[in-house]
Amino acid sequence: MRILLAEDDVMIGEVVLDTLRAEGYAVDWVKDGAMAETALATADYDLLLLDLGLPRKQGLEVLRGLRARKQRLPVLIATARDAVAERIAGLDAGADDYLVKPYDLDELLARVRALLRRAAGRAEPVYEWGQVRITPATREVTLAGQPVPLSAREWAVLEPLLARPGRVLSRAQLEEKLYAWRDDVNSNAVEVYIHGVRKKLGAGLIQNQRGLGYLVPVQEPGDVC
Ligand code: CA
Repeated sequence: MRILLAEDDVMIGEVVLDTLRAEGYAVDWVKDGAMAETALATADYDLLLLDLGLPRKQGLEVLRGLRARKQRLPVLIATARDAVAERIAGLDAGADDYLVKPYDLDELLARVRALLRRAAGRAEPVYEWGQVRITPATREVTLAGQPVPLSAREWAVLEPLLARPGRVLSRAQLEEKLYAWRDDVNSNAVEVYIHGVRKKLGAGLIQNQRGLGYLVPVQEPGDVC
């Protein structure tokens, strides 16, 4: 999953960036509202973590522009404790949730997971596919009840596919989930991680659609895998 972090406070930004990356998210960090708009226009994000007090363009303006362009990604706003009116304005302008600064990092991660789950049209906190069972909150993966360790990058390719069975993601889209701007992209990295996932969880879980990309097939009730 790819997250845009818009935060001008360098100390907060560094901690949040490290925390999100350690969880396997690809994160791009911008430090003002104008750069946030440019980033939103150029890359495909799964979530925006938006500080409302930003230089060059206020977070609220960024948010209004985003919703006016019908970009539907979940937006989590961060505001100061005493800024109740700002928080209300943010929610009314199309934010999905908010955090009050200084916020707890575990709470940040839980809210991010909840928003990504809802954006994928799921309320339940566990993904199941055949004998495969995945809990995003803890990143536990089991196959027929047995724990299977996945690397952070195997996890990063599997999660967006499994979040919406039947949806095809291209190799480029999966690369976006894997890497932030400044990372080196190895040209066959996606194939390598998908190969790893198939080896651990079964060849049928991720299918290749030639020329289009990859998907987790939709399961009919009673399918045996
Ligand atoms: Ca700020």
